[in-house]
Amino acid sequence: MERLKGKTVIVTGGASGIGHACAQRLSQEGAWVRIVDRTSDAAVSAATALGPHVTFCVADVRDEASWSTLISDVVAEREGLDVLVNAAGIFMRGSEHNPETTTLEDWRAIHAVNMEGVFLGCKHAIPAMRESGGGSIINISSVAGLRASAHSAAYGASKAGVWQYSKSVAHHCARRGYGIRCNSIHPGSIDTPMGQHAMMGVAATLEEGRERYRQGIPLKTIGEPDDIAHAVVYLASDESKYVTGQGLTVDGGVMMA
Ligand code: NAD
Repeated sequence: MERLKGKTVIVTGGASGIGHACAQRLSQEGAWVRIVDRTSDAAVSAATALGPHVTFCVADVRDEASWSTLISDVVAEREGLDVLVNAAGIFMRGSEHNPETTTLEDWRAIHAVNMEGVFLGCKHAIPAMRESGGGSIINISSVAGLRASAHSAAYGASKAGVWQYSKSVAHHCARRGYGIRCNSIHPGSIDTPMGQHAMMGVAATLEEGRERYRQGIPLKTIGEPDDIAHAVVYLASDESKYVTGQGLTVDGGVMMA
């Protein structure tokens, strides 16, 4: 299947977990993909393993100058930009991350990556996509942005911000007739380094934490990175051409129960 044949895609956080799975699935569907991640070794090996149509760029999503260079390099090489997947993120959880204990430093650190990184990505991608005749922006939020997160308060707030901001981007682009769609995806517990960090936070061992998480999921299984990547492929492709401003929850049923 080549549902994304000819599309030019940027995936942030593509050296690991969900971003890596997205880069893989998008390239399997025919897209040219540039992975962006802050860790050079991981980014290089992640891109190399995914074949000739996946390239990498070491950049920090918090840095506006890097976004400017990244987008202009991709546009110069590919004559446009069709899809941006903002998957880079960081997570903090525990008794030191509730609304009373969260330090201002941690609050800012979380928002700098999870919220400002998405803001900067959208800001710089919109003009490039507009010039390309349209596009699709997919921001990876979380169920933590939809429901209370007492022990990861800053993270939850940042992900709620991503959800709301995605709708503002979608509305802005639709009103201006840019042909650019913007949607957010809200994963539940996904088996990645970040997901495992969360699971270990509720038990003495990873296996115990995994089991506790599993019991709280209606479908009784932890999600795989591909579960999110499949949703990203749909939102990146023209199959979703009438879908914008939506939050797609992919969580094994957690939010319904
Ligand atoms: P992960 O830790 O496996 O991967 C995150 C990637 O983002 C890493 O490669 C990291 O180097 C990169 N990154 C972090 N800060 C960066 C920066 N400043 N600039 C560039 N790259 C940076 O995590 P994951 O589980 O794959 O998470 C991907 C996204 O999905 C995140 O936004 C996360 O909040 C969200 N999410 C994950 C889960 C889960 O259970 N795993 C659930 C809900 C939402």
